[in-house]
Formats: sequence, structure tokens, C-alpha cells
Amino acid sequence: VSFGYEDIPATDKTARVGGVFSSVARSYDIMNDAMSGGAHRLWKDRFVRRVKPRAGEQILDMAGGTGDIAFRLAESGASVTVADINPQMLEVGMDRAAKRGIDGLVWTEANAEMLAFPDRFFDGYTIAFGIRNVTDIPKALSEAHRVLRRGGRFYCLEFSTTLWPGFAEVYDTYSHKVVPKLGKLLAQDEDSYRYLIESIRRFPDMPTFEGMIRDAGFVQTGVEPMLGGLVAIHSGWKI
Ligand code: SAM
Repeated sequence: VSFGYEDIPATDKTARVGGVFSSVARSYDIMNDAMSGGAHRLWKDRFVRRVKPRAGEQILDMAGGTGDIAFRLAESGASVTVADINPQMLEVGMDRAAKRGIDGLVWTEANAEMLAFPDRFFDGYTIAFGIRNVTDIPKALSEAHRVLRRGGRFYCLEFSTTLWPGFAEVYDTYSHKVVPKLGKLLAQDEDSYRYLIESIRRFPDMPTFEGMIRDAGFVQTGVEPMLGGLVAIHSGWKI
């Protein structure tokens, strides 16, 4: 399947991604459970354990969407800012926070490529299943580096490429045949889920993405693959 978005101007990709998430916002949480069989919850738990937030820290959860990562981070007592380019996703997140009685989070509309936060403001920066949707990834990584203080940590949870033989083929068939159908069935939106799968397929592999994190200025970078790299936690440190 070719989505063709690599041939269109950058502003158009940002607009198209905006359309996708506005369209999926209300069905987003249910679809995550349906598509991953609930596994996304375990990946997110593991991610936040790796981040190890502490009370009093300032953490920016970029592309925070409906709050899954932010809610977990906030359990530590850290101050969490949820930033996302899409107001509909943030709205769903704020509703969920209110229903769960979680307050104290800061919700803000922002593009990961151009942040209004001052230099060296945050102790930690997290981005989960968000970076592959960003039009200019190097720009977003360099903004992450800018807003972190010295000694601050960068953590990214994202789909990657599994290196397990056999599993890659099963996953490929599942994602191209089953996911768009699930999208149609549960969210009446086949095209958006086709885009999401296509964006996963196009995302750079683990060594390439780790190199991009280093190029943005981070040191001691690392990658922790799950399911052979189907999903991976990339990290880096600002000095
Ligand atoms: N982090 C949440 C989670 O793990 O459930 C949401 C992930 S969702 C797949 C991707 C999010 O990235 C969407 O909410 C979308 O609006 C946001 N996004 C896409 N491009 C962005 C950008 N340039 N800057 C900030 N957020 C962006």
C-alpha cells in the first residue's frame, strides 16, 4: 500500500496527520486495546518504569494524546506537562483525567518541532507512539534536546522493525489485512488506520533512529527492543 505522503510538502503531511488524529480521537483508546490485544498497556508500563520519574521532577510528555503515559508518570508525584498538536486528542485526555480524578497535569497544544518552552526547563522528555507522526523528526529531536536540562533524559517508545524471523511476516499480514478492517468495524475509519500502519512501516530501523538521537546531541544512547524490536524504547542523555 502506498500512502504517498512522502511526496507531498511538509505542511501537508502535518495537516494530514492532524486529520487522522482528529478522526480517531474518540475511538483511539478502544482501538489501542483491540489492535494490540491489550499489550500496549504492558509496553507503556514498562516504558514508564524505565523512565523512573521522581516526585518534584518536571517531565514533558510530548505527543501525549489522551494521557496514557502522563497518567502513569504522574503517579510518581512528578509534575507532568502533556503536549500534543491535536486539540481533539487533548480534549479526550482531559475528559479521561477528570473522570479518574487526576488533576495537576498541564495540557498544552504544541508542535514537537517548535516548542515554546524555555531552554533547559525539563528533567525528562517522553514521547510514546508519537515521533513517527512528526514531519521533521530531526527538528523534534533537537527541540527535545534544547528543552532538557543538563543531565536530563530523553525516552521514546515507538514501533520499530522486529528482527525475529517469521514474526515479521505474521505481523505484516496482520497489520495490512486486519488492522484497517478493525478500524472500519470499530471506528468506521479504514483510511486512518491504513495511514497508521503505513507510518510504522516507513519508520527508520533501530540503529538508524538511535543515530538520529545521537545527531541531535544526546549521549549514552540506548535501545531496548521488545518482541524482537516490534516495539522499542530508545533513550539518550543530555550533558
Ligand atoms: N502518547 C499517546 C499514547 O501513547 O497513547 C498518544 C499517541 S498517538 C498514536 C500519536 C499522537 O501524536 C497524536 O495524539 C497526535 O496528535 C500527536 N502528534 C502528531 N504529530 C505531532 C507533532 N508534530 N507534535 C506534537 N504531537 C503530534
